[in-house]
Amino acid sequence: MKIEIRENDKVVIFGAGLVGSLLSILLSRKGFQVEIHEKRPDLRFKAYANLRSINLALSHRGWRILEEAGLADDLKKIALPMYGRLVHIPGKEAVFQPYGKSEQAIYSISRYKLNCFLLDKAEEEKNIKIYFESKAEKFAFDKSLAYVADIEGLRHRLEAKAFFGSDGAFSALRYEMMREDKFMYEQNYIEHGYKEFTIPPAPNGDWALRKDGLHIWPRKSFMMIALPNQDKTFTCTLFFPFEGKSSFSGIDSENEIKTFFEKEFPDLITLIPDYLSQYQNHPVASLVTIKCAPWNNRNFLLIGDAAHAIVPFYGQGMNAGFEDCRILMEHLQSAESWDGLFSQFYKNRRADADAISDLALENFIEMRDLISDPEFILKKKLESIIVSLGIENWIPQYTMVTFSDLPYSQAQERGHHQAFVLEQLRKLENWNDLEETEWAEKVAVHLEMLWP
Ligand SMILES: Cc1cc2nc3c(=O)[nH]c(=O)nc-3n(C[C@H](O)[C@H](O)[C@H](O)COP(=O)(O)OP(=O)(O)OC[C@H]3O[C@@H](n4cnc5c(N)ncnc54)[C@H](O)[C@@H]3O)c2cc1C
Repeated sequence: MKIEIRENDKVVIFGAGLVGSLLSILLSRKGFQVEIHEKRPDLRFKAYANLRSINLALSHRGWRILEEAGLADDLKKIALPMYGRLVHIPGKEAVFQPYGKSEQAIYSISRYKLNCFLLDKAEEEKNIKIYFESKAEKFAFDKSLAYVADIEGLRHRLEAKAFFGSDGAFSALRYEMMREDKFMYEQNYIEHGYKEFTIPPAPNGDWALRKDGLHIWPRKSFMMIALPNQDKTFTCTLFFPFEGKSSFSGIDSENEIKTFFEKEFPDLITLIPDYLSQYQNHPVASLVTIKCAPWNNRNFLLIGDAAHAIVPFYGQGMNAGFEDCRILMEHLQSAESWDGLFSQFYKNRRADADAISDLALENFIEMRDLISDPEFILKKKLESIIVSLGIENWIPQYTMVTFSDLPYSQAQERGHHQAFVLEQLRKLENWNDLEETEWAEKVAVHLEMLWP
């Protein structure tokens, strides 16, 4: 049975995280009556004892829908542009590797502030109601019903024309879908976890490091990164294996932690004077990849992390969730029924979610290991020559993923093909024996054959 889409339809969103709050604004502007049910208290008014100070990289796909919704200008005021990577190798000056053209940047933004901002904007819309401490618990797909529990544990029955599960990686709606026939589900934890540190402002009150880049300390099997915050601190994240010699379980005593930092991050010892107590007291969190199919059941839809949780190494989890919202709205323009819309959206989007999930895992290897590898640096140099020569249809993979709207699956396919061509190009000359002035000519000649 088709559930026709009508203006004024009541729709329910579970989860007022980043994706749910943005989605509510977009749906309300289409004339729907939106109800959001969020299991936590309103994060704008309650102090969370263990709220993570996580900050996120917001890039083109996220900005695009924020711009379309008229939210980008205000958000730019609380975001800091990062134009490239600043790579820290022990005993050397940090090296700047631009992300793309000189004006292309990703933006560091606090997840907490972004979520508060989106909730404020959602509340300004006249046809959105937000219920906090209202936890989605049960769903009846065939009856178009759901049940939420309030803080006292009392259940309330919700009827609506459409239901959206933007309730994150451990989605309650997805668990219910898993009980249905032919639902596919895959969940993988990587062997690394993460721990956060804060670099305080420098003694002169300024940022202690350059604030226009994303700092990386690549150490092959692990890495530290740092993103700037508006209050002149940096949030650092150590991605480290759970087990093994160099790991969270292997480095535990005061002595081990000191020796480890002295060897691997000597500059951070000065920048984070209390690194020892931060290491000992900050929690370790795990990183999960979740794939599932389908994302829809009748008029119920999973969206954002609930549909596709990915590791953070391409900085795309939230960006992909925001792009979900844009693509869903585009499909809505010609959709007649909610179930038809959800099925179309899922079919169109799934391959892209799978692609960014795989790309994010690949990028971890690039960030922690390859960016300091001479072979990788050589290939990047060759690629920058290709770009400067204006070779048709060649766009670096990072640019396709981060600074374009090209579907992730196409970015993945084209990126892999380009990587293959670069590998061939690398083998055709002893590039390091040539004068760099000769490179462009040689590259152009070889590409006539390799990239006709
Ligand atoms: C360390 C780290 C770094 C990251 N860095 C980046 C980055 O640089 N760039 C980027 O794009 N992405 C990044 N991400 C990913 C990004 O944080 C997520 O993709 C994004 O938060 C997903 O948004 P969401 O709204 O789908 O889910 P969430 O943000 O998880 O929100 C889900 C909401 O649903 C609520 N909820 C849960 N269960 C229920 C229930 N039963 N009933 C009602 N409400 C419920 C939760 O309380 C929450 O408010 C990073 C993630 C991590 C862990």
